[in-house]
Amino acid sequence: MPAKEHPVELIAPDISAYKAGNTGVDYVTTMDSGKPGPHVMINAVTHGNEICGAIALDHLLKNGVEPARGRLSFAFVNHAAFHRFDPKAARFSRLVDEDINRVWVEERLDGEEDNTELRRARELRPIYNTVDHLLDIHSMGTLSPALMLCNGLDKEVKIAREIGYPGHIVCGSGHVRGKRLIEYTPFNDATNQKTALLVECGQHWARDTGTIALDTALFFLRAVDFIDSDFFKAHVIDSEPAPQRVLEVTGGLATETDDFQFVEDFSGLESFTNAGTVIALDGGKEVRTPHDDCILVMPNPHARKGMRVLRFARDVNPS
Ligand SMILES: [Zn+2]
Repeated sequence: MPAKEHPVELIAPDISAYKAGNTGVDYVTTMDSGKPGPHVMINAVTHGNEICGAIALDHLLKNGVEPARGRLSFAFVNHAAFHRFDPKAARFSRLVDEDINRVWVEERLDGEEDNTELRRARELRPIYNTVDHLLDIHSMGTLSPALMLCNGLDKEVKIAREIGYPGHIVCGSGHVRGKRLIEYTPFNDATNQKTALLVECGQHWARDTGTIALDTALFFLRAVDFIDSDFFKAHVIDSEPAPQRVLEVTGGLATETDDFQFVEDFSGLESFTNAGTVIALDGGKEVRTPHDDCILVMPNPHARKGMRVLRFARDVNPS
């Protein structure tokens, strides 16, 4: 199946008012309650074309969100890429020089290499080093149900369950190279209580994705006791979501050729009963599910050679 383009139903907000911020780092704002408590942070536009997070943070800031305790920081991470967003070429503003969600490796952050995303990562790193709980808001290429991604550490699954939204928690990466921010050492460490979660809110530009991003931020802020129930109720759309399902990633796949085609127009979370089911052709070679009751996670219909094109997963508690 050739990949289809999705319509752009969301409007990228004007974030210029947030450039100055108050932290000395562009597009980062910290609100200090003056009371003891953790440092909680929400990221938007880690990928410049994933505009739902900017919509959520813009909404919260315009509506006077304030932490009831501790400190709350909001960052528009890859603002340089976001500012290149063009609804007529919406896929092409994910990054400027490289994917900022692959650079969270000490050797690269400490190294001499220089590009737009490494510079931005280096200026954000001291802030992340002080963060106790992080939510990194993303979106996906297909009309998949929303997913909360984590490495699978107990502390991450615990807070993802406390957040209670969205409906699927996906543990493990099946990734190809580099490290995502949620894998950055201070977070991906079972010996401390810091957590970083990545939410994939839906298709990048589908209307629902904007409200799911805002709802996820509200459920997150409520779970860490940063907002009261009045603020939550005044802004949430899906106030009583269905119980969550926990999926464990069993593997990932990178494409071997530039000619990778799924056999159907999969969105994500399709389940295949039998191992060996053909789900794609990579340069004509059949790609089969590796085990029974295999769930397809985040199929990427636009993957080029060497890119991660899918993850396989299983339900941790199948019904
Ligand atoms: Zn993303």
